[in-house]
Amino acid sequence: MLPFDKFREECGVVAIHAHPEAEKLAYLGLHALQHRGQESAGIVTSDGERLHPHNGILAIGHTRYSTAGDSALLNAQPIMVQSNKGAIAIAHNGNLVNAQAIRTKLEAQGSIFQTNSDTEVLVHLIALSREQTLPDAIADALRRVEGAFSLVMISRDRIFAARDPRGFRPLAMGRIPALTGEKKDTIVFASETCAFDLLGANYERDVKPGELVIVGPEGVSSRFYSPSPAQSSCIFEHVYFSRPDSFVFGRSVDQSRDLMGRQLAIESPVDADIVVPVPDSGNTAAMGYSAESGIPFRLALIRNHYIGRTFIEPSQSVRDFGVKLKLNPVRSLLEGKRVALIDDSLVRGTTSKKIVRLIRNAGAKEVHMRISCPPTISPCFYGVDTPSKKHLIAANKSIEEIRAYIGADSLAYLSLEGLKKACGEGELTTYCSACYTGNYPTNWVDADEIQPAEILE
Ligand code: SF4
Repeated sequence: MLPFDKFREECGVVAIHAHPEAEKLAYLGLHALQHRGQESAGIVTSDGERLHPHNGILAIGHTRYSTAGDSALLNAQPIMVQSNKGAIAIAHNGNLVNAQAIRTKLEAQGSIFQTNSDTEVLVHLIALSREQTLPDAIADALRRVEGAFSLVMISRDRIFAARDPRGFRPLAMGRIPALTGEKKDTIVFASETCAFDLLGANYERDVKPGELVIVGPEGVSSRFYSPSPAQSSCIFEHVYFSRPDSFVFGRSVDQSRDLMGRQLAIESPVDADIVVPVPDSGNTAAMGYSAESGIPFRLALIRNHYIGRTFIEPSQSVRDFGVKLKLNPVRSLLEGKRVALIDDSLVRGTTSKKIVRLIRNAGAKEVHMRISCPPTISPCFYGVDTPSKKHLIAANKSIEEIRAYIGADSLAYLSLEGLKKACGEGELTTYCSACYTGNYPTNWVDADEIQPAEILE
């Protein structure tokens, strides 16, 4: 994998209820969600009687980049178990911040874990719950975990979809209208609505924070398993993770990114001849910056989309080889130009430094870096793989020091207020922005603070 300097995306989930080719729809949904994780993927289906990995009329799927637990195949999801409430499988996007604490206690009580994924804790809590029905047991388990989770589950004849009470990660619900002759619409869930477009599903609504939606033979029902504290949806979904063709937290990602670029142009204008995005994730913000500033937008960095996970570096090492494999400058656009270079984030600074050098070597006269989010100063614990604080350049250097390090003529970031405004803070949702502020919306849980009785009683 190329060492690109970004937060790593987490996972994507999809679920299909009542379709004769549910497994194929789940596969297509995962295909649309590949940007959320490519390390492993899995599908579990039900034919109405039993869970299995083949054809079925109900299905859930998961595509994964490991955030908690290592990347071993045994941690691939969905995780399937037999319980006294029947077989269930679960697929989870997020990170349970009290998973280790609960696991320690459950192991002390005799539970045996098959994986080192945080998701398995939920499965054990469901299996151990004293509630009589599966929906009650799931609600009971969800109340005991803390952190970020958007998850889908499948039983013999039901799909369950739930979000954590703060709504960190997205989860949308859609509907494929029944074809003539079929009795029911197909209900689908996915991390992002771009999956619905491929399935021919209409986006209906988001699963709400603290909500458990159940789709079964009797139709769709919903309950709130927990009161929702202040919502803290991940603002980074709009900055970088989600696809611009998705609606996330009820809002167009493309619209947010365009407004980020416009706001950045208002806050940090620059005398430049062209606006150039770092593709692809910087594209939309760069178009917004260009539209607001009136400076022409030029695709002066071309991304190679055909790079596999491995590559052979020449033995005579080429400077900036990794970045050059992925990006190539368009010399005819850059020569003699003052460039406003737009990127969506700057994490370690190592890649930005190489890109600035690439653009200068292609003849640019000046390079002015503009970042469409605030300086990233704290790691994420809610389902995103981030470097530790000591590797986050903005946690350790001033903006002027970062500018000098990456070799740009100027450097500016979007303000937090500007980012929130661009993402419609307070309209449909309120956001977590802990990686920019260090103010985390959840408490940390120590294993020793939980008594066994708290888990099983
Ligand atoms: S800390 Fe940052 S990446 Fe993590 S959930 Fe909050 S906004 Fe998203």
